[in-house]
Amino acid sequence: MMDIIKSNIGSNDLCTHLAFARLRSTGKDRVLETLQDGAIKYRRRNKPAAEKELLAYPIARIIVSCIDNNYSTKRYALAVARLSYEHIIELKIDALKELAADFGINITADARNMNVVMHFTDYIKHAHVLHEPKWKLLNRTVEQGMLTISKGDLSRLMEEAVRKKVESGLPHEVPHDIHEALKPYISEVQEAINTRASKQGFSRDGFGEVVPDCFPPCISTAIADVQANVNLSHTMRFSMTTFMLNIGMKPEKITEIFRASPDFSEQDTKYQISHINGASGTTYTCPACATMATNGNCPGKAPMCKKIEHPLVYYRRKVWILNKKQAAQVAHEH
Ligand code: SF4
Repeated sequence: MMDIIKSNIGSNDLCTHLAFARLRSTGKDRVLETLQDGAIKYRRRNKPAAEKELLAYPIARIIVSCIDNNYSTKRYALAVARLSYEHIIELKIDALKELAADFGINITADARNMNVVMHFTDYIKHAHVLHEPKWKLLNRTVEQGMLTISKGDLSRLMEEAVRKKVESGLPHEVPHDIHEALKPYISEVQEAINTRASKQGFSRDGFGEVVPDCFPPCISTAIADVQANVNLSHTMRFSMTTFMLNIGMKPEKITEIFRASPDFSEQDTKYQISHINGASGTTYTCPACATMATNGNCPGKAPMCKKIEHPLVYYRRKVWILNKKQAAQVAHEH
């Protein structure tokens, strides 16, 4: 295997050459593992086995890119990040510093190398999706813009940074011949995704009059995050809940969607939904696009986004267009 790495083979060979069929199968197995468990098992490996994993990694990424499905991409990125945490937590402080710098985070270590000091903006950037109370900035001591956290907490923040980086790099473009060569592996993964989707609460059915295909990118991305077990920021959780209530979704259905969240609590979720739904006297409306963007909850504008200023308007226009198309089709058929 060492010779393979030294010979500088390209991903084209990995995906097409008969000699690498086992590696392709391992790449596919890793993607399946991320779908089933939301994690890639941390295995203490000898060198040849570690090198095999290393070569299977680009194959797994290519398979995920070919499938180009929000759910599997997020699930894969989450699993790679979780696995990377197991390695990061074991790094010595110098290596950790270097890795953090690669992600644009500058840290300095304390005298015992147990804690690190970082700028609070770097901290918030990755900690805002972590919901345990200890991650709240209020629960940290900030002095002159800097705060101190344990090496373990930094590793958790790095895990989040890795997740974002992997996710933002996917899908990447895959040449047609590679796509063709990987077809059997892609089909197997696609089948696993379909089976999982039919078992989960968020299917296209069961929404009543609500049309999920017309959701704006901000909301469908948030739903994909939840389904893939990725934490949502508090503001995104609020926006998603208000949006769904505003378009007439039943609180029970919304609770079902949140069930896949890493920190799901049925009681808390039901309480939050009923609070947002007016139980305390105020009924909330989904924030406008400008607020969504300020809170970092706008994933980028789809063509329709350029014409609207509110996610609810996006949805209504899309539903209107869809209805019009369907009416025209019916008229055409008669
Ligand atoms: S522009 Fe508005 S509707 Fe479109 S994704 Fe961003 S927040 Fe959502």
